[in-house]
Amino acid sequence: MSTTIGLKGIQTIENFDLKEKCVFIRVDFNVPLAEGDQGSTITDDTRIRAALPTIRYALEKGAKIVLASHLGRPEGKPEDRKKFSMEPIAARLGELLKAEVVLVEDPTSDAPKGLLPGLRHNQVILLENLRFEKGETKNAREFALQMASYTDIYINDAFGASHRAHASIEALPQAVEKKGIGFLIKKEIEMLDVLLHAPQAPYMAILGGAKVSDKIPVIENLIEKIDTFLVGGAMAYTFLAAQNLSVGKSRVEKDKVSFAREMLARIAARGKKMLLPVDHVITNDFLAPSEIKITDTAAIPEGYLGVDIGPKTRELYRKELSRAKTVFWNGPMGVFEKPEFAQGSFAIAEALASFAQDDGTHSALTIVGGGDSAAAAEASGFAGKMAHISTGGGASLEYLQGDKLPGLEVLRNLRPSVQPTL
Ligand code: ADP
Ligand code: MG
Repeated sequence: MSTTIGLKGIQTIENFDLKEKCVFIRVDFNVPLAEGDQGSTITDDTRIRAALPTIRYALEKGAKIVLASHLGRPEGKPEDRKKFSMEPIAARLGELLKAEVVLVEDPTSDAPKGLLPGLRHNQVILLENLRFEKGETKNAREFALQMASYTDIYINDAFGASHRAHASIEALPQAVEKKGIGFLIKKEIEMLDVLLHAPQAPYMAILGGAKVSDKIPVIENLIEKIDTFLVGGAMAYTFLAAQNLSVGKSRVEKDKVSFAREMLARIAARGKKMLLPVDHVITNDFLAPSEIKITDTAAIPEGYLGVDIGPKTRELYRKELSRAKTVFWNGPMGVFEKPEFAQGSFAIAEALASFAQDDGTHSALTIVGGGDSAAAAEASGFAGKMAHISTGGGASLEYLQGDKLPGLEVLRNLRPSVQPTL
């Protein structure tokens, strides 16, 4: 069972007087990059845009702002300083915010302290990639104290990094008295808390993606609450193998077949439903698909592998989903990165989009979690019609499996404000 207690005991940015205060905002600007001769360029700025409400709010309230994030996985090689520089992010943020973004090379130097008092209302500081500092991933207290020396108020709005006990996420707020969360994390947790604690029935989970093993803890934590599981992606073949169906050379996790069999039995015993694909898009070769076919049945012939759910399955899932009141989607239905194998995932996105009303409300709560699922929703063109797309892949799964996120726990103060009378 879930052990999380949501936002209890956690302050939000609105609880503080920000005027003239040095506000350190840990954001998640870990955006996908494409390498070029002139340095890297941003291929998707969703995460930058997602942080804007908190930054704009702090600016409006007269805060002196330091923004900080990690970017990619630099390994300390000299060329990494260019490849993983925050420079393109500073430029994009400046455009979006219509403000001047001052990039500070060394977060351990005196520069932030020197610059902060003179910052004007349309200027913000952005620190260079936090992972250029060894202390970041080590959760080093020394690095945290250097950042704390120019921080009056610490705000975490980096949901996608909150499952990691790193210096900017844990050690820094440990060293700061006034601390809380921004609007992005608040919304993420409120949404995921509905999935954990207050889903409206029928509650359906669409599960797909590459591996069953990635999703087992989430399935375990939600199994009692979910009414229907709809399974696709490579995960489906492990479940089909558990029913002794032929799966050809599809991706199967042999050591998870018994888990799949046990789960099918548990779901049947509880009178709940698990839908598995009844047909598939198959190919002879994953990397060089010269033959692409659709099966008639759930079985996959020898020499072929499944790469997407088939048309009958798309229709079956669409019908089932039309009754839902709460939907959680994690894991694409096929290898959606290739257009030939994207139809299954796009059909799911379309089915979820049909809950969006003209006035912006939703007749069912539709939540998408997972980096690749979010990318599939985006590629489908229906992303704007989901009730919520989580910006944190790993963090949202860890939260849903009932784990505590270090970045939230460090901000929690559960001391009772009133002493109980004896
Ligand atoms: P998320 O990031 O949303 O949690 P996952 O990382 O679990 O999703 O899974 C995404 C990956 O699963 C995608 O790269 C996709 O190509 C792959 N995938 C989906 N269906 C199949 C399949 N039938 N065979 C192999 N890989 C698949
Ligand atoms: Mg993924």
